[in-house]
Amino acid sequence: MTAATVEGTEAEDAGALTDGIHLVVDALRLNDVHTIYGLVGIPITDLARTAQAAGIRYIGFRHESAAGHAAAAAGFLTQKPGICLTVSAPGFLNGLVALANATTNCFPMVQISGSSERHLVDLQRGDYEEMDQLAAAKPFVKAAYRVSRAEDIGRGVARAIRTAASGRPGGVYLDIPAAVLGEVVDSASAAKTLWRVVDPAPRQLPDIESVDKAIELLAGAERPLIVLGKGAAYSRADEQIKEFVESTGIPYLPMSMAKGLLPDDHPQSAATSRSLALRRADVVLLVGARLNWLLGHGDAPQWNRDAKFIQIDIEPSEMDSNQPIAVPLVGDIRSVMQALVERSKLGQISTAAQWREEIVLKGAQNVAKMADRLAAARIAHPMKFLGALQVIRDVLQDNPRVCLVNEGANALDLARNTIGMYRPRRRLDSGTWGVMGVGLGFAIAAAVETGEPVVAIEGDSAFGFSGMELETICRYKLPIVTVILNNGGVYRGDDVSSSEDPAPTALAAHHEFMIKAFGGTGYRAETPDEVADALREALASGQPSLIDCLIDPSDGTESGNIAHLNPKGITNKG
Ligand code: ADP
Repeated sequence: MTAATVEGTEAEDAGALTDGIHLVVDALRLNDVHTIYGLVGIPITDLARTAQAAGIRYIGFRHESAAGHAAAAAGFLTQKPGICLTVSAPGFLNGLVALANATTNCFPMVQISGSSERHLVDLQRGDYEEMDQLAAAKPFVKAAYRVSRAEDIGRGVARAIRTAASGRPGGVYLDIPAAVLGEVVDSASAAKTLWRVVDPAPRQLPDIESVDKAIELLAGAERPLIVLGKGAAYSRADEQIKEFVESTGIPYLPMSMAKGLLPDDHPQSAATSRSLALRRADVVLLVGARLNWLLGHGDAPQWNRDAKFIQIDIEPSEMDSNQPIAVPLVGDIRSVMQALVERSKLGQISTAAQWREEIVLKGAQNVAKMADRLAAARIAHPMKFLGALQVIRDVLQDNPRVCLVNEGANALDLARNTIGMYRPRRRLDSGTWGVMGVGLGFAIAAAVETGEPVVAIEGDSAFGFSGMELETICRYKLPIVTVILNNGGVYRGDDVSSSEDPAPTALAAHHEFMIKAFGGTGYRAETPDEVADALREALASGQPSLIDCLIDPSDGTESGNIAHLNPKGITNKG
């Protein structure tokens, strides 16, 4: 190991002695950690204070889950592990939800948690917030480590960062017991135990024979298709992907968080003819997209039964997880796409005009059908989801810097299809689990990491999971506009109750009052024009704002696009 020391570290400034807390902060600084997302309490409050004093930005949340989701989003946006700081036991468990979600989505993140005294926890003697956190974390994360001595803090931080960022990115848990945080050690020798991780995510070059096989298969295809997933967005291979798509003429389909990698109005986008593209494609190049439930597991009849798959992924075990992979291209997407670009220069691939036209024609038909729905929704009263969303779309087109966060059921499905993205990594949503509760945490990270305005489009149910983070947004004065599509319920607001109590899906809130309590600006909008006016004003102000959009309670589909996942019992309407 080469020991590297930081000039003027907290440890050295503290004099001859230092402690675990200062060493954690020094190790993070040494590894260019600029921001920590967390929630303080025993035993990590002084860690947050020390980090802030040392120049690391500390963003304090109201719930650890939201802090964790923010760290995960920061990981996706920066390619560096987002750091979440939590207290022991319950706080740790709240954060673990986000760490598991980060792992599922392949976002690099490190959750650092304080924990209780090992000698008490391990004999179950009933310590304050007693829990074997390391064991609890293990099933849900890429890796879990514990630091048991202050001299291992540098090693623990380095190992966590390396593991989270390299290979398939994911969530890493780093357990630091209170006793280690408080351990007093010699400052000069402790500084030598810290190091900076060199090249945390080294390039992984593909086997060139596989690259040639992929080119051959694509060249022989009649109806090739490229599917871009959020792995493609994460890998920052924007130029290579554009060049390969455009030079080969192959139609492409963006998964939701890959939208904007190429602008959504790109002539080769098959987004508006998705079903046809999947059903008809005979050779499919998957770029950082798994054949999981979001892609119907690659199964017929949604997909062509005879389709051959080429898959680019950094994780070899992803291959064949659902369908036979004719050409596995294992490597980092940027390197693989670069190799594909080079090999395709030989000019073997030229996509048949007939296939491209088929896609374009179907897309135009679907857009025309949708135009009728949009026109009807624009004038409908009470307001429909699509009435609000089309004016939001128009306002966002005039504000191209905006990052979009999106969660909900109908609010997710309809916003994803209505709102085009024109820049890479500017859309964050419910992701691989289709989870609710990521909204405001993601929005906060998007604002902090990009410095750009954020619009979070939330279903009223989804918003509730992280709604208290409005206070965080206001406290840090972040330029986030939270737009709530409020139809008064989970899925819909018109369910009939079978008792004196409200129906299980019922919700009732005037959300605009919430943000006012924290000093932000609240709007209530009952028509699309009011939504547009409020959104323009809120974006122009750059201040924390919330627009509660009153949506027809009868608008909305139970479980949105995935109603088929409900059990088909005798009582279920879905
Ligand atoms: P989507 O939900 O958009 O379809 P997924 O989350 O299913 O995307 O797939 C992302 C895939 O990208 C994962 O299998 C992951 O291993 C892969 N991946 C992430 N980063 C890279 C990278 N830099 N190079 C190659 N593959 C990557």
